[in-house]
Amino acid sequence: MTIGRTVYLNGKFCPVEDAAISPFDRGFLFAHAAYEVTAVYDGRFIDLEGHLSRLRRTLEGISISNPYSDEAWAEIHTDLIDKNGVEEGLVYLEVTGGAYGMRDFAGPETFTPTVFLYADTRPLIGEAARDGIKAITLGDTRWKRRDMKTVQLLSQALAYRTAREAGADTAFMVEDGLVTEAASANAWIVDAEGRLITRELSHSILPGITRAGVLSLLDGTGIELVERAFTPEEAAGAVEAFTTSAGAMVAPVITLDGKPVGSGKPGPVTRRIQRLYYEAMGADVAAVAPWALG
Ligand code: PLP
Repeated sequence: MTIGRTVYLNGKFCPVEDAAISPFDRGFLFAHAAYEVTAVYDGRFIDLEGHLSRLRRTLEGISISNPYSDEAWAEIHTDLIDKNGVEEGLVYLEVTGGAYGMRDFAGPETFTPTVFLYADTRPLIGEAARDGIKAITLGDTRWKRRDMKTVQLLSQALAYRTAREAGADTAFMVEDGLVTEAASANAWIVDAEGRLITRELSHSILPGITRAGVLSLLDGTGIELVERAFTPEEAAGAVEAFTTSAGAMVAPVITLDGKPVGSGKPGPVTRRIQRLYYEAMGADVAAVAPWALG
């Protein structure tokens, strides 16, 4: 991962060293902020419209007015990757409730947001996609509005630390005996009948843009989709499991709590979904992900 040296802060591009934000910023004090992470592949954005539409919904839900039109957002994104020479990687954007020189829970009637973006060069189709990742199960201790993409990420940060201590890469988070989603990705399993199962949308999970992208590719594939919550036991007994997110795209989960999922290797349905997704984003699959061709 290489963080681009030019970032965007409140209307201007500047060197990252010069980007300064007030300690009274509501993002810092109250995690009062929305964020988005959009993938860049071959110099193009993957589903930027989907990310901007989710940003609109989150901002509305946290009482911050959207500072830019979709066109203006797209221009900032494009300028940022151009300035940093990003061909493959991610753009992170954050909009906070801003700062007004004091710490006050409710804050002013109208917020003047802080807007920050940076770009990050990294391979999106890499070793994790090829070899798979390891997951643990962990209680989901997040707030109740997980459908909004806010920076209230302490539970997830701690989940990643616990996973790392257990020699794993991520966590399947569990609430009321059911998996909600992975620590920063949506969770999917394939059952013995070959059905693809992922939790239905609600306040309990983030409506992943990659999840929506995968769903849009299933028509005509013969893969049966069931949108419902599944238990950690079902995940442990699944034939395959994987996660979806803008950063890791489609990542096979090969172990859960130290035990192999299915064969303990990325399975054929996961490989097929990877291939469909990579093709849809214009990747030369034979060159960059020959293992997905099965
Ligand atoms: N679920 C959570 C909790 C996430 O943090 C993320 C991404 O960060 C996702 C799901 C996947 O969303 P997307 O596909 O839009 O990246």
